[in-house]
Amino acid sequence: MLLLDDVQTYYGTSQALFGLSMEVGSGEVVTLLGRNGMGKTTTVRSIMGLTPPRAGTIRFDGAVISGLPAFRVAQAGLGLVPEGRQIFGNLTVRENLIATSRPGPWDLAAIHDMFPRLRERAGNMGNQLSGGEQQMLAIGRALMTNPRLVILDEATEGLAPIVRQEIWHCLARLKEAGQSILLIDKNIEPMLRLADRHYMIEKGRVVWSGTSPELTARPELRQRYLGV
Ligand code: ATP
Repeated sequence: MLLLDDVQTYYGTSQALFGLSMEVGSGEVVTLLGRNGMGKTTTVRSIMGLTPPRAGTIRFDGAVISGLPAFRVAQAGLGLVPEGRQIFGNLTVRENLIATSRPGPWDLAAIHDMFPRLRERAGNMGNQLSGGEQQMLAIGRALMTNPRLVILDEATEGLAPIVRQEIWHCLARLKEAGQSILLIDKNIEPMLRLADRHYMIEKGRVVWSGTSPELTARPELRQRYLGV
């Protein structure tokens, strides 16, 4: 479904991705793992057309999307829950949800079923929400674009444990529904439970990839590449 081939991405003259290749299959949940600054967010920005790669190719359902502007990548069926949520603080919850929505099974009613808090908060401004509510809104907003692949960058960061659990539960429901997901997070245990496969990124390269059972069986990998 999503295929990155030898992607090289720069910030000005500084290279961040050095020939990164990976893929996400239809219905799969895949993670990007690695310490801070190793290139996970840059990989997401490369996919979404926010920091386009200077070399290499990114394909989505066979079509080349590298080189397209970000709004065209989104239209192609990729939904992003960005690091730091980036909800619109001066729009209501409802307006946030419909601002970038596209027709499909994820409509307001479906989002409200998934996150009842967003129904209660529908008329509140984005900047009046708690961190957890903002995160639910960011996920709801991405789903309302009815993406074929949803990408979450640090969706549980800075949240209370109980809210985190709620987010993991939501992701498990999405997976059950067949949603393809690419995930970045610092909490390895819930990712081992949820995800099918993982890519370990170091200094802008994939240094290991494998399934959850393969990663569980190799604690030294976690020690070496994640320091945990
Ligand atoms: P984190 O978990 O901290 O977000 P990450 O694995 O997502 O880490 P990236 O944010 O992709 O890492 O950063 C990869 C490299 O690119 C780092 O060396 C970082 O300093 C550099 N970098 C990231 N953003 C920029 C930027 N806007 N300008 C210049 N360099 C950047």
